[in-house]
Amino acid sequence: AKSAGRNAARLFLPHMQRDADARLELERGLRTALERQEFSLRFQPQVDMRGRPVGAEALLRWKHPRLGEVSPATFIPVAEETGLIHALGAWVIAEVCNHVREWRRLGMDFGGRIAVNVSPWQIAHPQFVPNIEAQVKAAGIEPSALTLELTESALLNDFDTALRTLHQLSAIGFRLALDDFGTGYSSLAYLQQLPLDELKIDRTFISALQPAITDPLAGFIVDIGRRLGMTTIAEGVETRQQRIMLETLGCDIVQGYFISLPLTADDFQRWMTRHAT
Ligand code: C2E
Ligand code: CA
Ligand code: CA
Ligand code: CA
Repeated sequence: AKSAGRNAARLFLPHMQRDADARLELERGLRTALERQEFSLRFQPQVDMRGRPVGAEALLRWKHPRLGEVSPATFIPVAEETGLIHALGAWVIAEVCNHVREWRRLGMDFGGRIAVNVSPWQIAHPQFVPNIEAQVKAAGIEPSALTLELTESALLNDFDTALRTLHQLSAIGFRLALDDFGTGYSSLAYLQQLPLDELKIDRTFISALQPAITDPLAGFIVDIGRRLGMTTIAEGVETRQQRIMLETLGCDIVQGYFISLPLTADDFQRWMTRHAT
């Protein structure tokens, strides 16, 4: 018993070696993935309660040559830890700008706003605001075509700096959305100070909406957003029932497998043409 602690500390099981190897392979792969053009975007349509398309969320995909499709939930944290998130995030923004410019050129109605996920690490970078402003300018698109989706963790480290950054982005004309709302720690007092246009209700509250189950939280969150004058969006809407319940609750926009899977740019273009009003 005396040496149990020491033995435990020495314990290194084969699966731990495998985990470390896998992590290292991801990290190595990420370093070359941009130049090897292994990333792509999917666009998941968002519709209002009358079914009219209002835009889409851009979601990042990575096809690793050996591991195949790796989930962003797996590789984004690695990109953040290694600092690669800045180059990767800039690529996502450039790619979205290019698509928006192309859709405009084709006269395609893409709903007017594409949501882009922005990591807290990007927000904290002192060059983020000038860089993204230069990017939309270079692409010749208006900043309001982009909705930047931020999570509450972007505010945790240095609230005052983050607040200043959000005000700068908002003043330039970007739309701002708080993502995964309800899962973090932000107080209602914080929420009122932020220049947010949209509140995105996390999927956990949407999956709680089942027939004959009245989950008070989803309705509560919709109310908060409405009272603060924000557009409310429900993510992860998978059933007709959920969509109807959200309409009853007063939610503005829905996104999820019930409406559409995330689509390639080409499929998104076709989807929009089919659903144009
Ligand atoms: P998120 O921002 O909460 O994105 C929503 C996730 O839910 C996406 O997973 C989407 O494919 C999935 N989803 C959409 N509809 C449904 C549905 O009806 N049911 C269910 N069960 N899931 C649905 P995905 O694409 O795997 O992305 C996971 C997370 O990775 C995202 O969560 C976001 O936090 C992050 N991420 C994705 N793209 C980017 C990016 O370009 N930059 C950054 N920083 N993070 C990204
Ligand atoms: Ca998101
Ligand atoms: Ca989300
Ligand atoms: Ca989520």
